[in-house]
Amino acid sequence: PGDRKNKGRTPAFLNFDQIGGQDRAKKELMEGLDFLIKHEQIKKLGIRPLKGILLTGPPGTGKTLMAKASAHYTNSVYVAASGSEFVEMYVGVGASRVRDLFKEARTKAQKEGKDSAIVFIDEIDVIGGSRDGGQHREYDQTLNQLLTEMDGIHTDESPRILIMAATNRKEMLDSALLRPGRFDRHIDVELPDKKGRLSILSIHMKNKPIAKDVSMEQIAEETFGFSGAQLESVLNEGAIYALREEKPAIEQQHLSSAIDKVMMGERTDRESTQ
Ligand code: ATP
Repeated sequence: PGDRKNKGRTPAFLNFDQIGGQDRAKKELMEGLDFLIKHEQIKKLGIRPLKGILLTGPPGTGKTLMAKASAHYTNSVYVAASGSEFVEMYVGVGASRVRDLFKEARTKAQKEGKDSAIVFIDEIDVIGGSRDGGQHREYDQTLNQLLTEMDGIHTDESPRILIMAATNRKEMLDSALLRPGRFDRHIDVELPDKKGRLSILSIHMKNKPIAKDVSMEQIAEETFGFSGAQLESVLNEGAIYALREEKPAIEQQHLSSAIDKVMMGERTDRESTQ
């Protein structure tokens, strides 16, 4: 789907300060990550270890960026898969892919000499959709395997594993996934407000020449409802308009046209899926 088109641009290593806005989400996430960092204290205090963090919110708001930044912040190895990669015609293949993912995390940690790993599963709803309605039966084995892996995580083992997952359809998830000891910490990653949009724009402006006439305030104002991914597109499309006019820098008019284009693109995406 269209929301995956920016994936290739995400850098491999990432800091939390390269994620604009999302102050509350970042703060909650860092508190959760303390479980990996302060594991000795957690154990001494008898606190139930945290195994899973669920990031919820609309597409393109930075959930994948947050998972990557979490790995960097906790000095963990990072392995990732998307729920749709586990969907297979043949029974059992999805389950064995889940097993392989966790195996990969352990092997990679050992190879890189790290004692923790973050396993990120994007679009978890694809395999973790509610079983109550009788749908998704073919994915049951895959989901069961994921639950087995989660239950099998021991905080004493090396590497310590934290599972992060993302969805924009939290209400669809099977209740088994949300039980204590599984994904019991949820963080909302919402569309950015104006301050957040300004901060995202300033991150993506860094490698681009911007003309003096540009008011970022105004761009942030005009992009109400845009996700981080869409804001990144606005700057990119703006640069393409500047290139077409052979201008050395991106001007306000280029960005205004880019806003229209991204907005239109969004509309046609939506229409084509209706
Ligand atoms: P999806 O639901 O499609 O998986 P997502 O929430 O995981 O979306 P990301 O993949 O993290 O979104 O973001 C896509 C791209 O959008 C990023 O590579 C980045 O360029 C830009 N982006 C999104 N959110 C932010 C943000 N808060 N700060 C800076 N850039 C952002």
